[in-house]
Amino acid sequence: MKIKMEYKIGHRKVSQREWERHLTQAPLEAAKDAIRQQVRRIRCPRHGTTATVTFTKTARGFNTQLRGCCDELIGLVNRSRR
Ligand SMILES: [Zn+2]
Repeated sequence: MKIKMEYKIGHRKVSQREWERHLTQAPLEAAKDAIRQQVRRIRCPRHGTTATVTFTKTARGFNTQLRGCCDELIGLVNRSRR
């Protein structure tokens, strides 16, 4: 006997394909959000700006790259991530 299967994200019914795609992306989204939150909290004490994060997609996930007004800001962000 064949059973019927349904896939849902929240209350929304989706295709199996979308559901699987969502599953593989959800942890990445969460990791990305965490980094974004951390970076947003930190301002350069000298220039008052926040760093820019570049997310580059890789085969297994993504790489993050930080850019900022000066090394001091990048240092602060890196230290806060540990
Ligand atoms: Zn700076």
